[in-house]
Amino acid sequence: MGALAFAACENSSIVIIYNEAQAGRKQLQHMPSRRNILFMDRVNIHGVKIHNTTMQEAVETVLHWVAGDTIHAVYTPNSEIIMQAQRNPELKNVLNEAGLLVPDGAGLILGARVLKTPLKEKVSGIDLVKNLFLASRGKNTGFYILGGQPGVAEMAAVNIVSKYGKINIKGYAHGYFTAEEESSVIENINKAKPDILLVGLGAPRQEFWIHQNMYRLNCKVCIGVGGSIDILAGTAILAPEFMRKAGLEWLFRLIREPKRYKRMLDLPRFVFLTYKTRFFK
Ligand code: UDP
Repeated sequence: MGALAFAACENSSIVIIYNEAQAGRKQLQHMPSRRNILFMDRVNIHGVKIHNTTMQEAVETVLHWVAGDTIHAVYTPNSEIIMQAQRNPELKNVLNEAGLLVPDGAGLILGARVLKTPLKEKVSGIDLVKNLFLASRGKNTGFYILGGQPGVAEMAAVNIVSKYGKINIKGYAHGYFTAEEESSVIENINKAKPDILLVGLGAPRQEFWIHQNMYRLNCKVCIGVGGSIDILAGTAILAPEFMRKAGLEWLFRLIREPKRYKRMLDLPRFVFLTYKTRFFK
């Protein structure tokens, strides 16, 4: 089955979930004050300006944008992405132009502390998405899931609805589309008119993709969510809570996916650069 047919079949099977959610249509009750968004500090970590936000403020900011009429990008960089941005100035610009850049990972929290510009707390992509589902259950906020291997976004949609109840999933599509198929992927998203588009194409592809296509996407917030779609689908698992709390997610990931070791060499590089910046600049 081609990507287009797959997307079309995915869109039609989700209608039931969408209609169920429509039945519980309500006004958003959780309106944030504009203060959080307008006066959020940014912490400069090696040229990437991370917003100094709590999880609560990040959720409120996204929901505030959902109620507005322009489109915003949210990225969730970790220390690996900060290091990729050191080698790729274009990626650094794309990150810095985001509406909201949240610190995903204990590495950034520790790094900010070493640099004497502490961040309030870790706001991981997966936790942000889960909190958005919690805040949106039974409400009108529409989600579209883009990314993962064929079938994974659909599994994620089914799991989200069974776990969080009435979540308005407006559609989903896999993330292995070709350049020729891209227009039809965007057309399907625009037909579904989601408020929040979750894009899990891996970093930095998803950040560039959102940046390049925002102007033609009919939604309010695009969030780069990396492997969160796999976690929601159950095809990947999150590190146990004690490892997440101890900042050892990287170790869990390395044990499960040893092929990532090359990419993960950026973690010691991040630590080295951070101490070098702290003591020699
Ligand atoms: N992916 C995708 N299209 C691609 C490449 C990757 O949809 O062309 C998906 C992949 O299936 C996985 C996610 O992107 O679900 C990348 O997950 P990873 O945990 O590697 O995210 P990262 O750490 O790169 O943010």
